[in-house]
Amino acid sequence: MHWFSLVFLAALALATAARLWLSRRHIRHIAANRDAVPAEFAGRISLAAHQKAADYNVAKARAGVIETLMAAALTVAFTFGGGLQFLSELCQRAFQAGGYAHGIALIVSVVVISSAVDLPFSLVRTFVIEARFGFNRMSLRLFVLDMVKGAALGALLGIPLVFVVLWLMARTGDFWWLTVWLVWVAFSLLFATIYPTFIAPLFNKFSPLEDSGLRSRIEALLAKCGFRSRGLFVMDGSKRSSHGNAYFTGLGAAKRIVLFDTLVSRLAPPELEAVLAHELGHFSRHHVWKRMAAGSAVSLALLWVLGWLMAKEWFYTALGVSSPGTAMALILFSMLAPSFTFLLQPLASLYSRLHEFEADAYAAQYADAGELVRALVKLYEDNAATLTPDPLHSAFYDSHPPAPARIARLQSLHA
Ligand SMILES: [Zn+2]
Repeated sequence: MHWFSLVFLAALALATAARLWLSRRHIRHIAANRDAVPAEFAGRISLAAHQKAADYNVAKARAGVIETLMAAALTVAFTFGGGLQFLSELCQRAFQAGGYAHGIALIVSVVVISSAVDLPFSLVRTFVIEARFGFNRMSLRLFVLDMVKGAALGALLGIPLVFVVLWLMARTGDFWWLTVWLVWVAFSLLFATIYPTFIAPLFNKFSPLEDSGLRSRIEALLAKCGFRSRGLFVMDGSKRSSHGNAYFTGLGAAKRIVLFDTLVSRLAPPELEAVLAHELGHFSRHHVWKRMAAGSAVSLALLWVLGWLMAKEWFYTALGVSSPGTAMALILFSMLAPSFTFLLQPLASLYSRLHEFEADAYAAQYADAGELVRALVKLYEDNAATLTPDPLHSAFYDSHPPAPARIARLQSLHA
């Protein structure tokens, strides 16, 4: 066995084992804390709601375990199992080997197979788990419609992008990774710019916030924070799920704050104002830009590594492939990288949690921190978020600070 096969297998096994171990810890921690509402939330969240959240989060984590195992099995089947080599030969029957059409066909077939394997999990998440806890509002028809739209959009944007990347890899010599990176950054900027106005509306309706009682308070807040009020929208999130949320998205003139209709209907005006102030914090502290810059730095490093790897014959043979090529290199790398970038996950999560704390501090400055606490407690309860995540699981995966830490920080700002 080639040493690189061993490196890859070891990394895949370690990353998979770490994921399973974190899930097990998480499930046990939640179960161990199921019988009592944490002291910080006593009197604010009922025991019944706390137990529902525990059962919901355990159910999600258990489904995640099977998904993790399946993903590892699929990676092994594609590489050592000869799946990629087989697909490459199959595509050669229709397209000239090594040509752009062959490369695109190979990438598309891998994406289609991976999506097909993910489909049952997605169905279970929506129609079994979300439905069992009363969150799902999606019909099978809407599910299929979303899938068709997503696939069409993926093909429309993805296939030209793949073509450009393959062309640059073939034509721009030793520094192809730099040219591909520049195209990738440009594509990400373009995508972030068109997402709010052209892509998100394909899936949801966005309308201006109508509530007149709220309007003047909110406009005063937006003016104070320097955000144009035309950028505030309510989204019909209720057509898919009863989970409530709010987010800040987009770049330049396209940037907007989106409130789910489920959130607007649940929160009192001062609570909504505090949530809005939090989202304005993300805007004011340039979090979208910072996240994109960090992501671009990581992709530059990854592309450089790929540039080095794809010139080695063993990169292909050690991973079960006997016909090298640029498209094959991209696919192999996309299967290899997650086992290694898994180590970056805690850093990415930490970075995101720091941004959440920053946005909370901003909200405490421009609105009432006590109202934000009330809003968050309602959201935790409505969304059945766990109040007792395993600390290590949380450090690895959570983009938002665990509930007790976030509330404690806000209360210290409020005092
Ligand atoms: Zn936030």
